[in-house]
Amino acid sequence: MARASMNNVELIAVGTELLLGQLVDTNTAFIAAQLAQVGIDVYATHAVGDNRGRIARAISDAWQRSDGVILTGGLGPTVDDLTKEAICDALGVAAEFHEPSLQTMEAMFAALGRPMRENNRRQAYLPQGSTALPNPHGTAPGVLAFRGDGKFVAALPGVPGEMRPMLLEQLLPRLRQRFALEQMIVTRVLHTVNLGESEIDHRIVDLFERGENPKIAVLAHDALCDVKIMAKAGCAAAAQALIADVEPVLGERLKGFVYGVDEMTLEGAVHKALRQLGSTLAVAESCTGGRIAAALTAVPGASRSFVGAVVAYDNAVKESLLDVDADLLAREGAVSEAAVRAMALGVRRRLGSDVGLATTGIAGPDGGTSSKPVGLVWLGLALPGGRVETRELHIPGDRARVASRATIAALGLAWKQLAASPGSPG
Ligand code: ATP
Ligand code: MG
Repeated sequence: MARASMNNVELIAVGTELLLGQLVDTNTAFIAAQLAQVGIDVYATHAVGDNRGRIARAISDAWQRSDGVILTGGLGPTVDDLTKEAICDALGVAAEFHEPSLQTMEAMFAALGRPMRENNRRQAYLPQGSTALPNPHGTAPGVLAFRGDGKFVAALPGVPGEMRPMLLEQLLPRLRQRFALEQMIVTRVLHTVNLGESEIDHRIVDLFERGENPKIAVLAHDALCDVKIMAKAGCAAAAQALIADVEPVLGERLKGFVYGVDEMTLEGAVHKALRQLGSTLAVAESCTGGRIAAALTAVPGASRSFVGAVVAYDNAVKESLLDVDADLLAREGAVSEAAVRAMALGVRRRLGSDVGLATTGIAGPDGGTSSKPVGLVWLGLALPGGRVETRELHIPGDRARVASRATIAALGLAWKQLAASPGSPG
């Protein structure tokens, strides 16, 4: 039997906070991106306040144009959570008690050791004939309901940590099954550092011209450039096969610059390289002010390879905590190759790590001179054998940009040197 066809859907974010500008609607962006991946077109997106009549009207209006509506927010137990009531109104049905949802909620409250309030029972009422979408990350189940003519309405929680898994694990599989979604898009991202957008373009321009599927796109953000491969096919395996055709070619062209794929971050790649070498890292930061340490400690399991950091802003700290020679600082200045080298070696020795990474620079807006302009940054990396790599950067832009670009460049230097070290599987 041919399955129903679905052309487009509309998204409705529910919440008065959205209309007051107190809350940024990230749910709509997330849902839209996920729908694009599976080839469902979003015709329009809307935001509506916590008002039963207006939510119901927004659903009915959307059905005039589109085949389905996905709402987020207003599923909770409180009086301003009206999404399910509005769905009942739009469908012209009553709410009915859903025993399994109540039992799930009771079990969840029991596991938390918290009493279940009477208003939580409200969440077990669903529009007649609808399907409950389980919510393992919260109490309110989601809803999926179909009209007589096959058009649908779905409601997901407002809390992003509950909405996302419900969309991915509950709603999308059901929509795929119900509608003829014969195309799916699989994406692979290669993350590069220290390669400009135009350099990447130059290296892979002929691959762009090989065709539309898989499609290749280059996305630059700060000093990092992502190369995205997007393949469309009838199933995930077929899309993966299309990606497998070009990924090795791209990898070869960008060799030495790809620090990871998909979810990998630059700081994650630094940890991975350290772990593969069995080495530890300590950081001495001047112009980056702790940003490198913040990035490295954001990675789960960071303590296995990250020892700690010294934010050595004042020269007195560079001298007392990093053993940088006062005469050297007086002679060469704190923003110099000699100073960054001494900082990298000093933090490695004082914190007892295998590798020392250091930054010093002039972030501005004041403090620049003609020989040392704002944006001048020195990076230093003291490696296990005692060798020190240094880099001089000139970063355009304001104070925040100098600090953030210097952070990325320092992590990039560490990744590149460590991943290329003898002893690293590469
Ligand atoms: P609860 O059970 O917590 O009441 P709910 O499904 O009723 O959840 P809302 O009450 O509408 O959802 O929103 C709860 C919280 O979820 C909001 O305070 C906000 O932090 C977040 N949230 C809601 N809608 C959005 C949105 N569109 N984008 C991002 N965050 C949102
Ligand atoms: Mg709520």
